[in-house]
This record gives sequence, structure tokens and C-alpha cells, in this order.
Amino acid sequence: MQHEVVRATSSVQLGPAEIQPLVDDAVVFANQHGLVVALKDPKFVNPDYAVIHAPLSLTPVPYPRARFELAQQVMPLFNTLVDAVAADESYLETTLRPAAAQDAFTGRLLSCLQATRPERQAMQAAGREVVLGIHRSDYMLDAPSGRYLQVELNTIASSFGCLSALMTRLHGYMASGRISGLDASRLPPNPTLEHIPDAIAAAAAASGHVAAGGVVVMVVQPGERNAYDQQWIQLQLWERHRLRTLRLTLADIAAGGRLDPATRTLTLPGGQPAAVFYFRAGYTPADYPSEAEWAARELIERSNAAKCPTVAYQLAGTKKVQQDLATPGVLERFLPPATAAADAALLREFFAGLWSLDPRDLAADAGGAAAAVRDAVARPEAYVLKPQREGGGNNLYGEELRAALQKGGEELSAYILMQRILPPVNRSVLVRNGQWQEAETLSELGIYGTFVRHNAAVLVNRQSGHLVRTKTANSNEGGVAAGFAVLDSPYLV
Ligand code: ADP
Ligand code: MG
Ligand code: MG
Repeated sequence: MQHEVVRATSSVQLGPAEIQPLVDDAVVFANQHGLVVALKDPKFVNPDYAVIHAPLSLTPVPYPRARFELAQQVMPLFNTLVDAVAADESYLETTLRPAAAQDAFTGRLLSCLQATRPERQAMQAAGREVVLGIHRSDYMLDAPSGRYLQVELNTIASSFGCLSALMTRLHGYMASGRISGLDASRLPPNPTLEHIPDAIAAAAAASGHVAAGGVVVMVVQPGERNAYDQQWIQLQLWERHRLRTLRLTLADIAAGGRLDPATRTLTLPGGQPAAVFYFRAGYTPADYPSEAEWAARELIERSNAAKCPTVAYQLAGTKKVQQDLATPGVLERFLPPATAAADAALLREFFAGLWSLDPRDLAADAGGAAAAVRDAVARPEAYVLKPQREGGGNNLYGEELRAALQKGGEELSAYILMQRILPPVNRSVLVRNGQWQEAETLSELGIYGTFVRHNAAVLVNRQSGHLVRTKTANSNEGGVAAGFAVLDSPYLV
């Protein structure tokens, strides 16, 4: 495949005097259109009621069009890949067992998978298996190769979908004559606000609970600052589908959820049947401070409600599985035989170098793992060391990476080694808390995919929009919620 030439650039050049009035416009637009996060200012009686514009980039970031469109095109294939991997529970167990032996969180998810198997199989037999995938495949444009290389594929709590659609509108507003040289037709459509609620509604309908007053449960963390992104989904579920959403923590569900052992219908604290559990929590050990939260997770897994994600989907989205799928020959096993070779070639266009650190794989030099470790010790800046964690801020770089590899041992089974992707440096105006700063930046692109399956019938499988997050070039990681990055959007060149 031909690679486009990529240059470090910005979508538009702005002089210092032009910037402040544009920032004023952008912040007002953001506030007036719900592109906001909770301020959490204790001055207010209810700190959740006070909002501020989301951290944002004043202008969009250039992305080569052909590869962007390829990343959109490949998304349904990633959805079916997740579904196929999740269905092969013996593959999940074999692949994750060494990591689980070192990492209690992965181990606990695997135990939950095993413990709930009889009920899940019974539901399948009764025609009541409904799975809902709301995925986000994250990429960085790799400047040396011109390819978009996958950073990770999120199968749980992929956030910022709705605020990202508003970000596209904000950049459209900026491009509508406000910033000369910005061409609105280069901003691709971003249907997250429609597709994500529509997938949830399709799963709710398939669950069979809607006629009986079934509701969507958004499983949330206590004290969520990004609740407004989530509230957009709730509002759209109501306006587009007349579906109600309850926001409950795992502790709420543990305390008040009741599972009917005969029907497997989970009744919520307010008495409604649960149609869908959509998790915006549950991806980090901190979300399970006691056994009660694990009990809630198991209760949900044993119920006949649709789940986004199931435990199997969550495990299929781990970094260890991502690494294993990149091993030659593995991917093909999960693709329909008729098209496996072509599909695998397309998916591999997006795979970065990934290596197992399991001592057995290192001894056997599986996939060149031993050579990669030697190279990473010599050049740690060319690699990232990743544990089985979500939510940002968990990876090791540089000297820490080198030290961990040199120490070696079984603990490394819980990590994977990854090629460091080197995106082009851009210039951006970052606006946060009403103040702006011009900086050299790096960006990460996420493509959303939605998927609904009711037993053997795939009801939804499509590319569902995108997200760009931009961080300053000198930071290793960039969480928007963690305060390191801003929301942005792609400008196709
Ligand atoms: P998480 O599930 O915690 O979001 P990620 O794999 O996305 O884990 O890693 C967090 C961040 O680390 C990414 O958003 C990106 O900024 C950086 N990162 C991860 N992998 C790479 C890589 N291979 N090359 C460069 N940066 C990376
Ligand atoms: Mg993640
Ligand atoms: Mg990530």
C-alpha cells in the first residue's frame, strides 16, 4: 500500500492578536452548546451543577484523508474481531492466564467469566444473549511510516464520544468564516450523538424488557467530573427513543439489585427491570473497593440484560490480547475463513510492533520478543511498557521501562512491550479553564464502532464517529479527564 508523505504542520496560522477574540467565541460556543465538564467547585451547594467549557483546541489537527477513511472502513471489522475473540473463552483463558497470575484485577475478571458460564450458556440456549459493543480504536499517525498505528482498542467505558461531536460543531463554527483558511468541508461528519444512543436503544429493544418498563442503567463512578458527556447519551436516549436511564454505581446495584433466579431478570432498586447495563465505570481496580462491587458485576453478568461490555468483551480489549492478536497466525483464527487473508492484511495495516514479556515467550523468542527486549534496553525511548490497565497514566517509559526490563521475572507477564509511535508535531492553541496557551502538540485519533448482537443475529455493526485528543509534545500521556490533553478534531488533508 502507498504511504502518504506526512509533514509536521498546523491547519492554520494565527497571529497573537487574532487569538484572544477567537478564544472568546470558542468558549461561548462551547458553553452554549453543552461542550462542558463539571467544575466541581465546592463554592456551589451542588458542585455538579456548575459547569465550564471542556478543554479544547481552537483549530483542528491535520490528518491524511485516505488513511482516515481506511480507519473508518476497518472499524466494523474490529467490532466483529472483538466479538469473535470474546466468544472464544478458552482462548481468553489461555492467553490471559500468565498475566492474571501476576495481576489480581485481570485474574478477578477471568474468575467472573468462569463463575458465570453456566448462566450465560443457559441464556444463550434460551435466545436471550444480547451483547452491545461501543468500542473506540485509538491511533496515532506514525510520522516515519505514514500509517495510523493502533495504540489500543477500548471495549469498556470509551468516553468523550458525545463531547467530540460537539467539538466537530465548534470547529465547523470556527471554519464558517471566523478563521480564514479553514475549510469546513475538510471536517468529517461525526455521528456519535446519534449512533451511540441508537446502539444502546437497539440492545434495549433486543433485551425484551422495554415493553415492561425496562430502563438503561449507566454504571457510573461516584463523583464523575465528565458526567456531561454521559448525560448527552441519556438525553439522546430520551429524545430519540423515549428510553429512561438510571445512573447507578456498582455499590448501588449491589445494595438494591435483585436477580430473579428463574427468569434472570435483574430488578433495580426502583423496581424497574434492567434492559441494558452500559458501563462508564468498572475498568479499573479502584472501581471495586470492596467485595460488594464485584458481587454487583457478577450479578449483572448473570442477568438477561444487554451488557456493554460483557466481562468477555472487557477481557478481549486488554493489552495482552491486543499483543497476542498481533502474533503471526493468530488473527486469522478469528476471521471468517472466506475473507480471512484479506481481512487480516487490512487489520495488520494498523498494528504497531507488539511483544510478549512472558518469560516462556522470551525464552522461545516468540515473535522476536527477546531481540525487542534487548533493543528496548538499549533504546528505551523507542518503546512503551504497558500493564493490563485502563484510564491512562499507567504505562512506563524511558529509564523506568529499562529498569523493569532489566529486572525481568514473572511479573513482566502482566505487561506487554510496544513500539513507540512517533506522531508529527503540530502547533495548537490549547484552551483550558478559560485560558489559552500556544504549544507544540501531539494528537491521538479514536474511531468509534457500535455493534449489537442478539444471539446469532448481528443487528448493528458500523463505524460511529471519532475523537481527537491533543496533548503537549513533551508529555508521555494525555488524558483529557486527567488534565493533560484537550479535545480536538481531525482536518482531512
Ligand atoms: P489506556 O488504556 O490507559 O488509555 P493507552 O494504551 O491508551 O492506555 O496508553 C495511554 C497513553 O499512552 C496513550 O493515550 C498515548 O498517549 C500513550 N501511548 C500508549 N501507547 C503508545 C505508543 N505505542 N506510542 C506512543 N504513545 C503511546
Ligand atoms: Mg484504554
Ligand atoms: Mg488509551
